[in-house]
Amino acid sequence: MHVEPQARLTEIEPKCNYTGFTVWFTGLSGAGKSTISQILTREFQRRGIKHEILDGDVVRTHLSKGLGFSKEDRDINIRRIGFVCHLLTRNHVVAIAAAISPYRAVRDEVRQMIGHFVEVFVKAPLEVCEERDVKGLYKKARAGEIKEFTGISDPYEEPLNPEVICETHRETPEQSAEKILSKLRELGYIEW
Ligand code: ADP
Repeated sequence: MHVEPQARLTEIEPKCNYTGFTVWFTGLSGAGKSTISQILTREFQRRGIKHEILDGDVVRTHLSKGLGFSKEDRDINIRRIGFVCHLLTRNHVVAIAAAISPYRAVRDEVRQMIGHFVEVFVKAPLEVCEERDVKGLYKKARAGEIKEFTGISDPYEEPLNPEVICETHRETPEQSAEKILSKLRELGYIEW
């Protein structure tokens, strides 16, 4: 029987060198934070990069269960997510946070705490997010069934100097994810 050990060895993908960092998505509901974070997950898996996603909706059913949508509660929610990202990052696990995080000051606060922090502004016009209405929330907000809805009846403060801007009304989710990977390479956080 003919065996080709060399050929089989080359089929194994080389692992990617990396350090701990946090990718922090911010943007309106329906802008594309979850969609892009799922693609990033696949890309990190492919490279053997240990990572964890903190998705806003999931966090609110566990870590932040019981919190509402006042400015105070939103800030507590972001500080909790930020603290977990800080713990993961310093242990060389990549953290991906995908929450609206509408307030600039608390985003900057978690940036300071975490250090290796890549802020990704997922930027789509309100009209586009409302047209997508992925979870039917905009309709409810317009009907007054949901109070304090970001973009409709609650503020959203755009980042002033995000590391990456993904204009999801102009690019595909794959292009958005590639922009982030490219920035991570440029910053020296991942090798490839
Ligand atoms: P969020 O997590 O910000 O609330 P979602 O990811 O749940 O938003 O929804 C975004 C919607 O927009 C999805 O239906 C997705 O398919 C669509 N979409 C279109 N283009 C893009 C893009 N470039 N990036 C991300 N999502 C996009």
